Amino acid sequence: MDPFGELSPGRSLPPGLKQRFPDRVLVMTTDRCFGVCPHCTRKFILGRSPVVDSPERLSACVGYVKRHPKVRDVLLSGGDVLALPDPAVARFVEAFAELGQIEVVRICTRAPVSNPSRITARLARLLARVGRGKVWANVHVNTAGEARIAREAAARLVGCGIPVSSQTVLLRGVNDTPRKMLALLRALSAARIRPYYVFQCDPVEGLQERFGVPLARAREIEAYCAERIGGLALPRFVADLPGARRKTPLDLL
Ligand code: SF4
Repeated sequence: MDPFGELSPGRSLPPGLKQRFPDRVLVMTTDRCFGVCPHCTRKFILGRSPVVDSPERLSACVGYVKRHPKVRDVLLSGGDVLALPDPAVARFVEAFAELGQIEVVRICTRAPVSNPSRITARLARLLARVGRGKVWANVHVNTAGEARIAREAAARLVGCGIPVSSQTVLLRGVNDTPRKMLALLRALSAARIRPYYVFQCDPVEGLQERFGVPLARAREIEAYCAERIGGLALPRFVADLPGARRKTPLDLL
C-alpha cells in the first residue's frame, strides 16, 4: 500500500517533505487532485500523509533544503499542486526558486489533462516570473487523446518559457499496445510536451492485478517505438523500484 515508505520515512524529515535521492526532494503541497486516477500510486496515502499547509511547515522544508546543499531539484507534488490557488502555488515556487542551490522547481500536475483551463495565461506568466527561470512542468499523460487535450495548456506554459515534459504509466487496456504508445509519443511531440518516462505500474496493492503489463510486453512496446521515432520523442521505459538508487531501465530488470 505504501511501497516507498512515504507514510513512515524512517528518519527525521519536516512534515510533508520526502527524500529518496540525495539531489531531489518532494514536497507534498496538498492532498487534493482534480480527479482520482484509478492507477494512482499514492491513493492509499493521500489524506493520511502530512502536507505543507502552513507557513511554518514551508519554512521547515526550506530550512531542510538549505541544510542539505546537495539538493538541487524540488518537486512540488501532492496531490496536485495546481489544485491550490495561484498565490499559494507562487509561494511554494518562490520559496525554493530563490535558493541559489536550487536549479529546478518542478510543478507536478495533471491539470493540463484533467482541468486544462486551470493553466491560464496569467498562471503561466506568474510561474515564469516567480520561478526565476527554474520552473519545469511535469505532466502525467497516458493516451494520445489526453495529449491532445493537454496541447493548449502546454502551449501557454511553453510560451512563457516553462518546459513541459510527460511521465506516462504503462497501463493494461489503456496504452499497452505498440501502436497506442507510438500514437501517444507522437501526440506529445506535436503538443511540445517532451516524453520523459514511461513507468511500469508501481507495486501498489491492487494496481498490478488490474493494470500491470508483463515485462516482455513492455520491452516489445519500447522496441517498437524506438524503431519508429527519434530520440527527442523517445522516453525512457523504467520501473520505480523500492530501495533502488535510480529509476531502473527495463533492460536491467
Ligand atoms: S493526479 Fe497524480 S496524485 Fe492525483 S490521483 Fe492522479 S496519479 Fe494520483
